[in-house]
Amino acid sequence: MIPYGRQSVDEDDIAAVVGVLRGDWLTQGPVVERFEEALADRVGARHAVAFANGTAALHAAAAVLGLGPGHRVATSTLTFAASANCARYVGADPVLVDIDPATLNLDVAAVPGDAGAVVAVHFAGLPAQIAPLRAGPLVIEDAAHALGAATPDGPVGSCAASLLCTFSFHPVKAITTGEGGAVTTQSEELADGLRRFRSHGTRRRPDVGPWAYEVDEVGYNYRLTDIQAALGLSQLAKLDRFIARRNEIAQRYRSLLADFDVVLPPESPPGHVHAYHLFVVQVAHRHRVFTSMREAGIGVQVHYVPLHRHPAFAADPSHFPAAEKVYAGLLSLPIYPGLTDEQQDHVVGVLAKAL
Ligand SMILES: *Cc1c(COP(=O)(O)O)cnc(C)c1O
Repeated sequence: MIPYGRQSVDEDDIAAVVGVLRGDWLTQGPVVERFEEALADRVGARHAVAFANGTAALHAAAAVLGLGPGHRVATSTLTFAASANCARYVGADPVLVDIDPATLNLDVAAVPGDAGAVVAVHFAGLPAQIAPLRAGPLVIEDAAHALGAATPDGPVGSCAASLLCTFSFHPVKAITTGEGGAVTTQSEELADGLRRFRSHGTRRRPDVGPWAYEVDEVGYNYRLTDIQAALGLSQLAKLDRFIARRNEIAQRYRSLLADFDVVLPPESPPGHVHAYHLFVVQVAHRHRVFTSMREAGIGVQVHYVPLHRHPAFAADPSHFPAAEKVYAGLLSLPIYPGLTDEQQDHVVGVLAKAL
């Protein structure tokens, strides 16, 4: 089976993890700190705070912005459940927004005026145009797809038009820590809040005594381990190479599929870097194409069943005409740094037959 996405782990990544296992510190410690520094440096943020996974990072982001009951949090309907669940975790109400068919990102003009916050997803790795939101709601970027992407304002993660940016290091994402995530920010105060939220809401009180700490608020154990951070640190050094290879594969798909009866994914505008977490085409007769490609051993996927179609977020499909139209044909083709040209040719051959 050729999957739609997978990690690229080399011997040096393995050696980095083994090095931590031989040491004294397994859970969050000095390697997490080094990973956070390297990540902040790479994306041009003042702070990076590592989390157990990308969903925990989103939960923490919603919490430190003070979102809660009575707040409406807008996000694209074409995303993973976690982008909306983070609002629910803090008692706020997710509000689903239709997509712009030209980018497959949320239609910024459709964000309701009473939204207190927006979770802007960079779908497939193409940066969402969030600058117009600057004067309005609080903006969290869900950059689970977009580590390594950039806009003319800087790398995704530098928070040029947002308060917080969250990442995921799940194995299908740009780099992996097994499970893992992070939030980046330019704000010292938000970074402090994120660190407390990650670790039971505790704060040290050296003014009271060298032993003293206090629990200021309900927190969680959302820590990343040093074992995972060692993998992340080793992987981060390869990010540019991974993104370059993903872009090569994407351009190759574009030329191989040029004469096919498929809608190709939106390209990034000039001055942008696309992270190509996904290569999403739209096809006619998707059900049949999906099934015959799976039968031929190609692990195609559908990203995503729009949130408004799920019982947990149910909303009238007629409010999401663009997402409905796109969803009917969505198909994610395999893309990951280790995919060879031969495998890609095979995928294209199988797609040709399926069509
Ligand atoms: C992967 C993903 C997440 C969640 O990340 P986990 O690390 O799996 O918790 C959130 N949002 C989007 C859009 C994702 O693709």
